[in-house]
Amino acid sequence: MRQPLVAGNWKLNGSLASTRELLAGIKAGLEGVTNAEVAVCPPYILIPEAQAQLTGSPIAWGGQNLSSETGGAFTGEIAASMLLDFGCKYVLVGHSERRTLYGEDNALVAKKFAVAREAGLVPILCVGETLEERQQGITEEIVGGQLAAVIDQEGVAALGDAVVAYEPVWAIGTGMTASPEQAQAVHAFIRAQVAQHDVGIADGLRILYGGSMKPGNAAELMAQNDIDGGLIGGAALKADDFLAICKAAN
Ligand code: PEP
Repeated sequence: MRQPLVAGNWKLNGSLASTRELLAGIKAGLEGVTNAEVAVCPPYILIPEAQAQLTGSPIAWGGQNLSSETGGAFTGEIAASMLLDFGCKYVLVGHSERRTLYGEDNALVAKKFAVAREAGLVPILCVGETLEERQQGITEEIVGGQLAAVIDQEGVAALGDAVVAYEPVWAIGTGMTASPEQAQAVHAFIRAQVAQHDVGIADGLRILYGGSMKPGNAAELMAQNDIDGGLIGGAALKADDFLAICKAAN
């Protein structure tokens, strides 16, 4: 039985004041959510505030990115060990905004995935196709390649303590959501690809859906066999919306 996970990706949003308010709202409304795990990924500089507010609560926190390096002359970077130092459990790896806006390719994403695991963080590996790729009928090729880059480098066992998030790029922040059937088909494909290497790891792997998940569509998406929760962007910035999604996962 896979425990659902709902993780909020705050992206480049929030102030100290808004973080306090949002976390207080989430904490206050989470009663009764005992079957789903909940996590938030604030901007780096707000992580200490998340740690201060969430320590002792059931809510985990994590980073949105990390350096592929472990230390040294890499100005502006944050190392996995630093995230761990501030109590992070999770870290997003290969979010589509990192891939498209910051040129992160499959090899770099696989390296970040490895560095995160070596430090003791749980990587949430984000994969997904663009609209053009979907229209060309190469969704499986793209998603399969993103997944294979990690499996080939790290071995399938590395997915035993990781999470995968399927995020169609065309659905992120656009208000366009993959239909439950479209999402389920790709989730099933991802699980089958992992199962080709190890059935047990495939069965236990949590695969989240991300891309304009909202209170109105969360339950239907998460009712699909292979959808084990959500990675939430915009709706993670409003306590009521985020809580409604957590309750749908629960
Ligand atoms: C995301 O950034 O991972 C995401 C899914 O964003 P949104 O929910 O806003 O589409």
